[in-house]
Amino acid sequence: MPPVQLFVKNTRRDFLAQGAALLSAPLFRLPFLGAVEKKPHFSRNPFTLGVASGDPLPDGFVIWTRLAPEPLSGGGAPPVNIEVEWEIAHDESMKQVVRRGTTVASPDLGHSVHVELAGLEPSRWYFYRFRAGDYASAIGRTRTAPRPDESVSQLKMAFVSCQHYETGYYTGFRHMAEENLDLVIHLGDYIYESAGADGRLRKHTGGEIETLVDYRNRYALYRSDPDLQLAHASCPWLVTWDDHELDNNYAAEISQDENVAVDKFLDRRAAAYQAYYEHMPLRKSSIPRGPFMQLYRKVTFGDLAEFFVLDTRQYRSDQPCGDGIKSRCTGAFDPDATILGGDQEAWLFDGLVKSSARWNVLAQQVMMAHVDRTPGPEKKFSMDKWSAYEVSRSRLLYHMLSRKVSNPVVLTGDIHSNWVCDLKADFGDETSPTIASEFVGTSISSGGDGSQRLGNTAEVLAENPFVRYFNAQRGYVRCVITPDEWQSDYRIVEHVTIPNGRIFTDCAYVIENGKAGVERASL
Ligand code: FE
Ligand code: CA
Repeated sequence: MPPVQLFVKNTRRDFLAQGAALLSAPLFRLPFLGAVEKKPHFSRNPFTLGVASGDPLPDGFVIWTRLAPEPLSGGGAPPVNIEVEWEIAHDESMKQVVRRGTTVASPDLGHSVHVELAGLEPSRWYFYRFRAGDYASAIGRTRTAPRPDESVSQLKMAFVSCQHYETGYYTGFRHMAEENLDLVIHLGDYIYESAGADGRLRKHTGGEIETLVDYRNRYALYRSDPDLQLAHASCPWLVTWDDHELDNNYAAEISQDENVAVDKFLDRRAAAYQAYYEHMPLRKSSIPRGPFMQLYRKVTFGDLAEFFVLDTRQYRSDQPCGDGIKSRCTGAFDPDATILGGDQEAWLFDGLVKSSARWNVLAQQVMMAHVDRTPGPEKKFSMDKWSAYEVSRSRLLYHMLSRKVSNPVVLTGDIHSNWVCDLKADFGDETSPTIASEFVGTSISSGGDGSQRLGNTAEVLAENPFVRYFNAQRGYVRCVITPDEWQSDYRIVEHVTIPNGRIFTDCAYVIENGKAGVERASL
């Protein structure tokens, strides 16, 4: 494996940019100041965007909604603080209420509602709903995590990414809602920032989004989808973003369009990050401050699994070799190039060493496996991914190997295709140790129906023997995790360009506890 540098630091340029932004960005105003309207009048039901829950702890979780009677044009709630009631019950009919209370939906946060529950029982399902004025929300179902010392026999989850509204229906989410999952992980591209395009199944409203109101309206458009609402209401979610929640292939404070000034781009980033917070079931620790938002965090499911939710966008140094699929430039080996940033990397490395969970899961965005995408002797790699940050990747894999991290598993989105890969100490040597495995999940809708194989699939698989499976249709990955085994089922929706597409499992791969590497399982 390549030489490993043990420390990483943010580049000086990143540091200066962050300092300048802190000075120029107003600190986020604390909401809930001033009068509160307790009997608001809405011209129509304000609960148009459904409900959601997330970030489970052993004694609680976050429940979410947003008051938006006119969701596609600014929200439409009266521009005042509005009281919202919430209830938590043991039963779906909301008769055995165990907690109730009120909170405030503030115009400063788009009348979004985030309630952090605590003091509930571990490993238990609950139901929740909200009321405002004369209206009640849909009822959501969620659960607490097990206690850290609880020995957990099974966790059933799914992970998903890339839900371009214009190119496919969200049929996969409806199927997901019927899977009786404990958890859904969203790996980003929850929205796309592009202007509405003609000739597609559905259409984005307006041009490319740039302002807070633009981003809010775009989230509301996506969140108006009934299948997406069903999936959110079915279980807690762990969410992270990728690039399209702000701008295609951005890096920290650098736009994909090279001529955009850093301070202008950071204003846009602040708007995008705030709208993301407003629409996701996130804790107060993620309330953005100007263009900064804490999204990396970990969630533990008893002794079974620890999920490290990563943010490979906000802190990365600019793509050393630019975008696209290319031969690697010398910058790909720059020891100062970083995809996680120094603080997140230190937090992750420390957490991996301290974890006592059987499975250690990195929920992240871009492909970690070193896949040569060009048939023939020439080697080309996608430069927006870990292959362009060779020292970052080597340091992480070496850390997992040398610190004997228990059963590391990497979950990835971004590329609108399914891959199962073993992560090798040396990707060029089949006999070198397998350190971890990576499950890459396809898009829910981005790119339309897709196909089983692409033109050069056979050659790419032959040149990259650590890749065990490839498919470019749509769907999600269901994972059944037990102390003995991790199983990933690749769930495919045959058509997303017509309603009610059929779902089937294309294949399953397992990892046995204590034995690095995937094996194909019989269905
Ligand atoms: Fe995408
Ligand atoms: Ca090649």
